Amino acid sequence: MVLTRLLGAALVTGASQGIGKAIAMRLAFDGYKVALNDLAHKREQLEAVAEDIDQKFGSGTFVIPADVSQEEQVKQMISSTSKALDGLDVIVANAGIAGPFKPIADISMEEWDQVHQVNIRGLFMCYKWAAKEMIARGSQGRIIGASSTAGKQGVPNAAPYVASKFGIRGLTQTAALELGKYGITVNAYAPGPIETPMIEDILKDPSTLPQALNSLPSSAKVGQPEDIASIVSYLASKEAHYITGQTICVNAGMYFD
Ligand code: NAP
Repeated sequence: MVLTRLLGAALVTGASQGIGKAIAMRLAFDGYKVALNDLAHKREQLEAVAEDIDQKFGSGTFVIPADVSQEEQVKQMISSTSKALDGLDVIVANAGIAGPFKPIADISMEEWDQVHQVNIRGLFMCYKWAAKEMIARGSQGRIIGASSTAGKQGVPNAAPYVASKFGIRGLTQTAALELGKYGITVNAYAPGPIETPMIEDILKDPSTLPQALNSLPSSAKVGQPEDIASIVSYLASKEAHYITGQTICVNAGMYFD
């Protein structure tokens, strides 16, 4: 077990796999105590990530399953993380779902609501309760959210996802303007296609594969979760105090803004 310098406490949602897991590993490497969230059915995977972090970095972990689309659970997740890790300096609202890959005319309102429930409502509640906790504790914290290249540029056959990821940019800008006076920065990352279970599930399902492939520009290159973790590491750092309200593209030239 290696004892690291402790930078504070970070909470990552959707941390059992994919981008969230890579972010949690990276923040632990950087020296944060890390709280790991995902849905309750992912508890075993979360425990495995926690064990890996404890063995590699010994920086301290806290496993907190919760559904980010449920306000009481988000509130509880933030307060118990803050109690367990003695504060909350960074939240990465990473949990998200892809939703249906279909033309607009075929999307049901249930499908629309389901995506927004997690991607925008869930992220809003993470921003809200983390901001309250950081303000109460006087922490000049970092709030970081998961947008997407699909939050910068419309994508055919992915209307609910695109709308949710565009919404995250607006929410991130607004929160940045409101929270700047407390020294809290609010930013988001906008990945291109990254090799994670989310993308693998879409590509192995014959009902979503053709529409998903049609939605990618020919210049698209697939990245790795660590490519996103490194930008999050920077946004979480003290040096990034002068960056706020941004949604930063990480996509190897697929889209420029
Ligand atoms: P992933 O592999 O599906 O991992 C996301 C994790 O979040 C899963 O374990 C998922 O559980 C969990 N989750 C879903 N709903 C939740 C909820 N209500 N509360 C708590 N956890 C929940 O996804 P990823 O590819 O790592 O993506 C992470 C984030 O980056 C997402 O917001 C995604 O939209 C965004 N993003 C990804 C890509 C990409 O190419 N991978 C590109 C752009 C943006 P289940 O597996 O049970 O759903």
